[in-house]
Amino acid sequence: MCYFDHQLWPCGWWKWGNFREQCTREYRTGETCGLKLVFNTYLEPEVCRHCEQIKKKQGRVAKMHSDVHRWRAEGNRRATIEKTEKEIYELNVQIAELWGEHEVRKHAINY
Ligand SMILES: [Zn+2]
Repeated sequence: MCYFDHQLWPCGWWKWGNFREQCTREYRTGETCGLKLVFNTYLEPEVCRHCEQIKKKQGRVAKMHSDVHRWRAEGNRRATIEKTEKEIYELNVQIAELWGEHEVRKHAINY
């Protein structure tokens, strides 16, 4: 069990940082035994890159939704509306995937 720094984001995302200390089971210099233990946890001030991406995509979806709404009221942009709705759908799929990965990472013990 070798010791590593640990970075933790307020949203629950985390990752291993620098290698800090070898344990007694590992005798090869510069090698690690493969089991990681937390040496020190560093709290990150902002949300993780994953969350940032999700937020950006959600912002785009919200904008497209209001565009579609407006175009519907104007009543003459069917092709554009269809195209935009398809984009909204695709973005929502991406958001769901990002969330899935985020939840998995939050509850994972080792990576
Ligand atoms: Zn996050």
